[in-house]
Amino acid sequence: MSDLILFWHRRDLRLSDNIGLAAARQQSQKLVGVFCLDPNILERDDVAPARVTYMIGCLQALQQRYVAVGSQLLILHENPCKAIPALAAALNAKAVFWNWDVESYAQKRDRTVAEALTQKGIQVHNHWDQLLHAPEELFTGSKKPYTVYTPFWKNWSSKPKAKPVEGLTQVEGLNEQEQLAAQKAGAIALPTAKDLGYVWENPLLLQPGEEAAQEQLEKFCDQTINKYQEQRNFPAVDGTSKLSAALKFGAIGIRTVWEAAEATYRDSRSDEARDSIRTWQQELAWREFYQHAIYHFPELADGPYRDTFKDFPWDNDETLFQAWCEGKTGYPIVDAAMRQLNEVGWMHNRCRMIVASFLTKDLLINWQWGEKYFMQKLYDGDLSANNGGWQWSASSGMDPKPVRIFNPASQAQKYDPEGEYIRQWLPELSSLDTEYLITGKIPESDRKACGYPAPIVDHKKQQHEFKQRYQQQKSEQ
Ligand SMILES: Cc1cc2nc3c(=O)[nH]c(=O)nc-3n(C[C@H](O)[C@H](O)[C@H](O)COP(=O)(O)OP(=O)(O)OC[C@H]3O[C@@H](n4cnc5c(N)ncnc54)[C@H](O)[C@@H]3O)c2cc1C
Repeated sequence: MSDLILFWHRRDLRLSDNIGLAAARQQSQKLVGVFCLDPNILERDDVAPARVTYMIGCLQALQQRYVAVGSQLLILHENPCKAIPALAAALNAKAVFWNWDVESYAQKRDRTVAEALTQKGIQVHNHWDQLLHAPEELFTGSKKPYTVYTPFWKNWSSKPKAKPVEGLTQVEGLNEQEQLAAQKAGAIALPTAKDLGYVWENPLLLQPGEEAAQEQLEKFCDQTINKYQEQRNFPAVDGTSKLSAALKFGAIGIRTVWEAAEATYRDSRSDEARDSIRTWQQELAWREFYQHAIYHFPELADGPYRDTFKDFPWDNDETLFQAWCEGKTGYPIVDAAMRQLNEVGWMHNRCRMIVASFLTKDLLINWQWGEKYFMQKLYDGDLSANNGGWQWSASSGMDPKPVRIFNPASQAQKYDPEGEYIRQWLPELSSLDTEYLITGKIPESDRKACGYPAPIVDHKKQQHEFKQRYQQQKSEQ
């Protein structure tokens, strides 16, 4: 009889191209998956209903995949520090495998689980899976973690990339008696997002699960990646991959993603297409850059990287913040983007930068308020990418260029020149002249007729104010 191995899924909700899972399969053919709905995460106040809905959908798809290969995905809903060792002991498992994570909460939790398992005489095996290069693999010439993207990219892109690993095929699962033992040890039926208290009724941008992620990758590589460079900054154009949530929850393996882009590169006939593919791959490297950053500098999760921003005199006006959240600032491009976020649980990258700059540099509100609001809404919300994006936009992060202020009107004129995106998300303005929409200079009578607010701040004045405060902070250091 084969030894039972448990594979603990976390940010790798798939059977294909999963390094830890493939290693577990090598050890035994009796292999069962487990996922623990962690109350420490699910009960936080920054959880997005869209994200939970996507995750539950991925788990549902993963359960079906396990059944198809002859096994099960068990679901627990308890503190994993207790629940995982208790389940492994109840099932007499020989070993528990899982893939490492970069976040400090996950690392601490994993150490506790590993200790409890070891004490029970159960083996623990861990692997890096969610990155093409693990954080301990890449350092500067002076053996320090990278704090600047460009040299990181140079080093990261020069390293050979691993190929996708073989997916799980036929394995043996639990027999009936063992299934009863698993239930006694806490295994439950998969709840819905609603059961967990999260209601999201709008369609998800991408269907959950491995199959949908793979299809989306193929579609993107067939139709869009070749024009990524030209299209990626235009929010009205479907010019990006929409794979962020799949990458966050590991519905697709990063090696598979890389390999698909490489294969398209090899088949490309034009320099433009090849440049576009490299540009897209640079975005994958940004993802890794921020994951390395949060791994090496976990304190980033709690505050600014730069000292200038440690005691920055933000205004933190609650009324202005509310207007920003609701998309009622009177700046059409900002409001369109916030409405997209609220309705879809996703926002185009260009617009994430615009609204983040607006919150910090125009409304003089602490970027951490925006960071949290994004986490409460984004279906792809991810600590490292979100924190990195917000610190970049606030100028409080690692990026060497200190002050970057986006002018909402110039951004709209450049990236939504026909006002298509603004019209899509602000239908009340759809009949107005494009010029009004993109400059934000809407005549009062039109504004009133549309029920649209006047600008809540003056961009010029506020950017001047921000710069003054910034200089003052710098001079005091
Ligand atoms: C303020 C702010 C907050 C952000 N919050 C998040 C977040 O919570 N989760 C998240 O995944 N991304 C975040 N991003 C990065 C980026 O906006 C999204 O990854 C991207 O819009 C997702 O769409 P896509 O999958 O079509 O991206 P594509 O353009 O197709 O990019 C491919 C993949 O690369 C990664 N990626 C792209 N840009 C970045 C970036 N700047 N930083 C890190 N990874 C990147 C993502 O995994 C993405 O799916 C944020 C950016 C900003 C400016």
